[in-house]
Amino acid sequence: MSPNYENFIDENMDPRELFLTMACKDIEERDKVLNPKNSYDLLLRMRADIITDHTRLYRVGLNRVRKSGKSMLDDPFKKDFQIYMSYLDEIDKMIVEDIPSGYILDVIPEAQCMKTEFGNIIIISEALRYFIYYFSLSMTSFDIPIEIRIQAALIAIRVMLEKESMDFELDPRGIVPKEIDCAIKEMTEAQIQFIIGHEYAHHRLAHEFSDTVRISRSRGEIEEHISIYNHAWKNEFEADLESINAVTDTQKKNELIHGSIHFFLALYSFEKVMNSIDSSFQDINTHPPTLQRYKNIIDNFSQDFFIDRKESEEWIEYHDKFADIIMKIIKENKWFVENYGSVYLEMWRDKVRIDRVDY
Ligand SMILES: [Zn+2]
Repeated sequence: MSPNYENFIDENMDPRELFLTMACKDIEERDKVLNPKNSYDLLLRMRADIITDHTRLYRVGLNRVRKSGKSMLDDPFKKDFQIYMSYLDEIDKMIVEDIPSGYILDVIPEAQCMKTEFGNIIIISEALRYFIYYFSLSMTSFDIPIEIRIQAALIAIRVMLEKESMDFELDPRGIVPKEIDCAIKEMTEAQIQFIIGHEYAHHRLAHEFSDTVRISRSRGEIEEHISIYNHAWKNEFEADLESINAVTDTQKKNELIHGSIHFFLALYSFEKVMNSIDSSFQDINTHPPTLQRYKNIIDNFSQDFFIDRKESEEWIEYHDKFADIIMKIIKENKWFVENYGSVYLEMWRDKVRIDRVDY
């Protein structure tokens, strides 16, 4: 329960409104969530819908309230968006400054530029951030045990499949040594910046939202306000390049290029593993083939940014080999892709915590 919850419930509220109110910090926020009047309110409402739909997410939210004293609907990673914005020139910055954008504490790993009745909204789910962190850990150049690499990759894949419990803040999967953690966070940051830039590009380039295939599950009652469409593939390639080209500083540009390369290789590995386990998996792939997006980046930037084309092929081969190892492990133990729960970095695990006893 939020700290002042009793002070702002209303006897006439229906059960859903009561639940939504439990995610709010005060009356002002409650009114925005219950009756969204603009796209900023709508973003709050999306957060409230999801957090009150999942007990575990709600517990993560409560833990944040206790630690930070902020609202459960606050975005602890909003800095990521401000950082990308700071890379843009004044005009582009003005275009994106006015649209609500932020993370959603959600189990579905996705990033979207959504069209709503109040205008566009850009969201990234925190699950996607965890996928990127753990996959980056599995690929780090630090000398770490192969067991840790495999477990990190399994966590990443399970996050994508919505099988990994999203309670990392309550139940850490392992204590990653500080130096490695810092490097992985930097890798994560570069990939996220590229993704933010991609979503902003859809908005800045005024891409038409084309066909009407859904790519994610219902977002609850708020659905009536939102249309979620796929962008045409052409627009996806364009947004990938524009995410990088819009950045003025060469060093930052270079970071984004490497961010995009790491992200596409991670996605490619995930898709490869999944295709081998479930042949119907490709059906839910709504973006252009990941390798084409990867090659699009290499083709456009390798010359100016000194990326060796031969090396870029070798990176794919390396990921192929690693994916083969992961596929073999999953085939021998389907639990990894079927059961809901938590996988740990066993050698780096702190103490064993018991759900609802220790957290
Ligand atoms: Zn896109």
